[in-house]
Amino acid sequence: MRLANITWPQAEAYFKDHDTVIVPLGSTECHGTHMPLGTDTMIPDKILEVLETKTDTLIAPTMPYGNTDYLAVFPGTISLGPEVTYQVMFRILDGLRKHGARRFIVLNGHGGNNSILDRLSVDMQKEGCILAQMNWWIMVWDLVPDWKGESPWRGGHGGAEETAAVMAIDPDLIDYDAIGDLHLKSLSEELPFSGMSAVRFKGVDIPMRRFTTDVTDNGWVGADHPKYATKEWGEQMINATADYIAEFIEAFKKVDLG
Ligand SMILES: [Zn+2]
Repeated sequence: MRLANITWPQAEAYFKDHDTVIVPLGSTECHGTHMPLGTDTMIPDKILEVLETKTDTLIAPTMPYGNTDYLAVFPGTISLGPEVTYQVMFRILDGLRKHGARRFIVLNGHGGNNSILDRLSVDMQKEGCILAQMNWWIMVWDLVPDWKGESPWRGGHGGAEETAAVMAIDPDLIDYDAIGDLHLKSLSEELPFSGMSAVRFKGVDIPMRRFTTDVTDNGWVGADHPKYATKEWGEQMINATADYIAEFIEAFKKVDLG
């Protein structure tokens, strides 16, 4: 059930008997030369399409912008930055809380939002609420270990995993001719980048967030090569995530919030 599609008396009736809301959060940002800027928003939206057939839980409108300052140099990327992302999300969650929500499922499409969601989780607990982050691209690695790939870093950005998920939405959204190879740069001769936000030194990854243009010139940072993406894999990941979240919600609703 979509918040945008119901009337205020229907919202009032929902919050009389329910206190759980799904809040989708994305980003508008570079995903390599082959993927659309809306990747991190359209994948959660696709998961929601499946999820809403499996649960009556209220779904808030998707927030299409997030915290992505490190990618902001790439044309078309729009970042709200950490402070504004926090403030916008706080107002959304707090607004829902004032109407009766206490349990929040944030369906997130973008890793740069995670630190903001951690902070929101604690601040919402202060208000008697509970927040669960559904970071789909990480969850699926645990749901099906084969989907984890061979990269030493998890998740990735613009690699096969996200490319497959976008193919499941519409294969024509991918510019296949623009799929290039991974070109990770080095900070210095001794300090090559390892993933999007770390350098590797003597076998150890040292977190070091830099502008992504320092890390790669084409904007994709793994994990797996996008040429391995298939529409079928994308559909499997989207369906598995939706199934999982539907089951999680049932357990989440039973948590005693006092
Ligand atoms: Zn992404």
